[in-house]
Amino acid sequence: MSMGRGSPKLSGAAPLGRRLGHRVSAVAERRGEILAMAYGLATLGAIGAWAAAPGQILNVVGIAFPVATAGLASALFFLFRRRLPPYAEDVAVLGSLALLGVGIAYTAQPALFTPYYVWVGFSAPMWFGRRRAVLYLLLTMVACGADMLVAGTRAALASWFVTSAILVVAFLVVEFLSRRLVDHERLAAVGEMASAVGHELRNPLTAISNALYLIRASLPEPLDPETERHLRLAERETTRASSITEDVMAFVRPRVAVLARIEVREVVAAALATAPPPEAVRVEKDLSEARLYADRDQVVEVMTNLLSNAYEAMPSGVVTVRARPERGRVVLSVADTGPGMEKAVSDRVFEPFFTTRHRGTGLGLAIVRRLVEDHGGTVEVHSTPGQGTTFVLRLPAAPAAPAVPRGASSGPSGTPAPDPEPDGAITPELAPRSLDNT
Ligand code: ADP
Ligand code: MG
Repeated sequence: MSMGRGSPKLSGAAPLGRRLGHRVSAVAERRGEILAMAYGLATLGAIGAWAAAPGQILNVVGIAFPVATAGLASALFFLFRRRLPPYAEDVAVLGSLALLGVGIAYTAQPALFTPYYVWVGFSAPMWFGRRRAVLYLLLTMVACGADMLVAGTRAALASWFVTSAILVVAFLVVEFLSRRLVDHERLAAVGEMASAVGHELRNPLTAISNALYLIRASLPEPLDPETERHLRLAERETTRASSITEDVMAFVRPRVAVLARIEVREVVAAALATAPPPEAVRVEKDLSEARLYADRDQVVEVMTNLLSNAYEAMPSGVVTVRARPERGRVVLSVADTGPGMEKAVSDRVFEPFFTTRHRGTGLGLAIVRRLVEDHGGTVEVHSTPGQGTTFVLRLPAAPAAPAVPRGASSGPSGTPAPDPEPDGAITPELAPRSLDNT
């Protein structure tokens, strides 16, 4: 995979995971040891099975071959554990399937090798991204079925069903656990650290930008071009450092959502004020009277992130913001006419720290997803390379306004009653409620 422009930036705690587009997982750092252990156990298992029932092994080659190969694989994985090539796991899975195929041709008891197959179901979600993991799972079931068919006994076929069932269960359990574990542990650890570092960086960054401001003010105008260039660089990079710090802190900070009735129009206007479109980008709005029951500032932040991404994606074009009600929800979308994304990118845009931009932090959409989900909402991305990208949010709508306006504030007869709900006001039944997001 090229590391050039446009390819995901590859850095962070588990470079291996990122490099292969894999799930980033702590397991990835001990891959050599784990693979060596798996093949070591496989070797012992095969020897044990042989010792327990030597009569059932038809041919010495049948057991000697897998034992020797698995033992060798184990030794190699261990020996090169610090320098494993990127596709070591793929080789391990495919290699062991081939090995089994050969081994089983020589034995009368193919079920002896069940643990090998189960190992794939167990390990695939640890090593591979979901699609590749499912592919290997299916491949394993097929290989296992074929091997059992070759053996041709009833017991072998029964063992195919049992093995497949265990395989799938192992896969699902590990898949579930690893996702939970990774999200949880990583975010907790990264969060604590980032929050501490962010706090520590804030003050020095403020001091630096103040100092730069004073330096600029104290120098005689016009500055000589060299000084101007250096000063501008320092200012730009300080601003960038501050914005990264803010992004990271926004991502890790526990937030409390203060829910209230809010107007979509007002929220969109506020987001556009914070993130005004660059000159060559036109923003079109198609907003209904929709009202949300949500934290205003958080929704503004979400919209600001989506708008900035749309601007950043294209030098010129149109961004369309739409809102429409839908069964107790409001569907909000931000569509651009930018370059769109390949599926490999759009699958990962919500991952923290995933970015394809040279100067990106990869946190914008992770923050978006987190805030939206904290509201019980959803966010999706639809993107077609060459055509553009649309982000679709579904957020809780405010319940219909009460039929009778509160208090005695209705206008004199003949004039329409004033809106019972001035912008951002909170009805008693919708009093702000804390939503603990931690
Ligand atoms: P960052 O903006 O720092 O890169 P984000 O989380 O906001 O982080 O976005 C992650 C990635 O998603 C971007 O690097 C980009 O590849 C992709 N992306 C987001 N929005 C768009 C868009 N509107 N058009 C094309 N790609 C997008
Ligand atoms: Mg962004």
